[in-house]
Amino acid sequence: MSDIEELGKKSLEMIKKIYANEHLREGNERGEIKCAGKDWIAIDVKSFPYTFLKAMEEVAGEDIAADCLFEPGYLYGKEVTEKYKKKGIKAEALFKLSVCGGTFFGWLVPEFIKITPEENICRIYNSFEARSYLLNNKEKSKKPVCHWLRGVGAGICTVAFESEFEVKETKCFAKGDKYCEFVVTPKKYQRYK
Ligand SMILES: [Zn+2]
Repeated sequence: MSDIEELGKKSLEMIKKIYANEHLREGNERGEIKCAGKDWIAIDVKSFPYTFLKAMEEVAGEDIAADCLFEPGYLYGKEVTEKYKKKGIKAEALFKLSVCGGTFFGWLVPEFIKITPEENICRIYNSFEARSYLLNNKEKSKKPVCHWLRGVGAGICTVAFESEFEVKETKCFAKGDKYCEFVVTPKKYQRYK
């Protein structure tokens, strides 16, 4: 088993306590996939988010396209973490559990490097956004590409630590780095309630 798979195994062990006996299934006769009490779709990683991002860049430019992945990612991260928070899970455990969900759903394998109220550093192996980029390009990216995950990370931290955070992607698998690295620090202007 590789180092990444060892990390992924730990991540799955954490999240499977919540999702015991759940797994993504094929669509039913109504054209729906039901898992963990939610209604899902499956979309292949070559298409999403890369083709969406490229189309948005054509329409609105790179910065707005990146925001268009970041913002819904942020709301999604908040929603998922609020759900776990209602189970009574708090702060660091809540943060870890929410990120580990990403392994269960095929998004990533996390490694937690530093978790403090002042700064969190999280390494993400095999990010689906980086995979999406690499499936569509022979060359490596010149910039980090994981805008959705950056948003999700900001949303998770906002709920877990009850404060607003900025997330910078300092390394990215799509650039040729071994992993994506996210550095999370508190925002100066706070809007969390
Ligand atoms: Zn990345």
